[in-house]
This record gives sequence, C-alpha cells and structure tokens, in this order.
Amino acid sequence: MVTQLELNNGVTMPSLGLGVFQSPPAETAAAVEAALRTGYRHIDTAASYRNERSVGDGIRSSGVDRDEIFIETKVWVSDFGYENALHAYDKAVGKLGVDVIDLFILHQPMASRFDSTIAAFRALEQLLADGRVRAIGVSNFQPEHLADLRAETTVVPAVNQIELHPYSQQRELQEVHAELGILTQAWSPIGGITFYPGFGDDRRSTLEDPVLARIGGSHGKSPAQVMLRWHVQEGRSAIPKSVKPQRIAENFDIFDFELTAEEIAEIGGLDTGSSTWRTSAEMDDRYASFTIPEA
Ligand code: NDP
Repeated sequence: MVTQLELNNGVTMPSLGLGVFQSPPAETAAAVEAALRTGYRHIDTAASYRNERSVGDGIRSSGVDRDEIFIETKVWVSDFGYENALHAYDKAVGKLGVDVIDLFILHQPMASRFDSTIAAFRALEQLLADGRVRAIGVSNFQPEHLADLRAETTVVPAVNQIELHPYSQQRELQEVHAELGILTQAWSPIGGITFYPGFGDDRRSTLEDPVLARIGGSHGKSPAQVMLRWHVQEGRSAIPKSVKPQRIAENFDIFDFELTAEEIAEIGGLDTGSSTWRTSAEMDDRYASFTIPEA
C-alpha cells in the first residue's frame, strides 16, 4: 500500500503519484483512470501541460471519490504576478472541475523578474488562507531562489519539485530543503529526462544502468521500480509518468520490497552532480510568451 508523507502544514500526501507531462490530452484521461484503479491517489499536472481538463475527466470516470485524491497542479510563468496568479487558480479549477486544489505550486522561478515570482507566491498564500488550496509550494527553485522567497513571504513552501533521479541527485538542494522543512519532490524520478526523445543520442538512460539492473534483479524488480523504491525509502515524493497501464501498474508495485543500506549507497554513487534545468533572462522571455488559455 502506498505510504503517506506529511507536509509542513500537517496535510498528508501519498508518496507516489502519477505525472502527466507530455501525456497527450487524448490519452491522459485513460492514464489517470488506470492509475486511480491501480491504487494511485495523487496526480501531478500543470497548466502548461494543457491536459488539466483530461485529468479532471479521468478522475470523474474512475469512480474514485474526489476527497480520496490528491491533486497537484502548477502556475505557469506567464501567469505570475499577484492578480494573474489568483486568476490562474480560477483557470485551473475550471479545467479540472474541482473546488479545491490539494497542492498548488509555482512551476519555476523567473529569476530575471523575481518580483513577479514573489507576487505570485503571495497569491498562493492568499489562496491557502482562503481554503481554496490545501498546500502551496514551488518547483525548480535553487537555494538562492528559496532564500529570496523566504525573505519576502510568510509561508514556507510545502514542496520543491525538482529534477531528481540517480544521475542527478541535487544533494545540496535536498539539504537546504531539510533545513527549511520543505519536502523534496522528484520530477523525472525514473530519469525520464535521460531518455526524452529528441534530446540527443549521447545520453545514458537510467533505465539501462547496469547497477540498477543488478539491484533490481536481486529483488525481482525492474530498474524503474528500484528508482521509485529508492525515492520512497529516502522520504521523497515521486511522480513517475506513463500512459501505459502495464507500466502505471509496474511503477506502483514498489511497496513489497526494501533496498539495503548498501544498495542505497550504490545508487548514491551514480550521481553525476549535474542537473539539466537552466534559466536565463532570454529563456524567461521565451517561457513568458507561452500563454495559458482560459478555462
Ligand atoms: P519519468 O522519470 O517519470 O519518466 C517518464 C518516461 O518513462 C516516459 O517516457 C514513460 O513512457 C517512461 N516509462 C514510465 N514508466 C516506465 C517503466 N516502468 N519502464 C520503462 N519506461 C517507463 O519522467 P518525466 O520527466 O515524465 O517526469 C515525471 C513527472 O514529473 C512529469 O510527468 C511531470 O508531472 C513532472 N515533471 C515536472 C517538471 C517540472 O519542471 N516541474 C519537469 C518534468 C517533469 P510511457 O508514457 O510511454 O510509458
């Protein structure tokens, strides 16, 4: 059975959820429904994925009670600023077809326009105070972004969703989270970004890693299951994406085995010390030109 994590405001969240980045809208509802039937109770989407409506459809067609499901979505940067971020909430609930969002997070910092990032987080604080969201957080924030945010706002983000898989473990950032009481949530938890199509052929895929294959072999588990078990055992949240029912089930079947301390240390040794997420003023301009439609 899926374990639960307690956020810094006392709200609980399942440790394992379904991600839907790059899930085509036409396949997303079926993936969400398959996940909920498998036992998942947490879905991670985003305004910029353009599939919040399909996530809502999948939730409704699953027959699972809304109250049993933890829904997480993200405010895209073109909706930063106080009023815009409040309106981003209206767009999100309108598309999802729900009244309350369980976890509402900023998708990434706009380092070159940090005032609008701060203002967006203040809007999230207001939504939290009004009971329209149950927890608020951030994504892709580096230590300096967290420090600047903490200096200007009141609520400590419940999570920071960051790239995290065996080849990119972001240990310093994880230490900052531990100090501040922020839960680390892993995106690309099975290393999806190491094998995204069209990102070049010279990358090493985590799914083909011999260490992960050997560890999996000794437990009768796949490399994907080893990575997900590793996140959960280390107390992180993980949100693997798949649109294939068999893989959705495989990724959830990780609560019946345990990695040894030696195996955890071996996985720790796979870290390359780098991550792919980058920002710049020029990239901020490009991201900000991508707008989010009304509900
Ligand atoms: P993942 O690590 O979840 O990997 C997903 C990829 O792995 C897909 O290509 C999927 O293909 C494939 N896959 C899934 N399960 C298996 C399996 N058991 N065996 C083999 N292949 C498998 O990467 P993502 O980058 O998608 O990250 C997960 C989620 O994190 C996203 O969906 C999104 O919710 C979030 N995210 C957030 C970001 C942010 O900036 N905040 C950035 C990136 C992701 P298929 O669907 O065909 O099965």
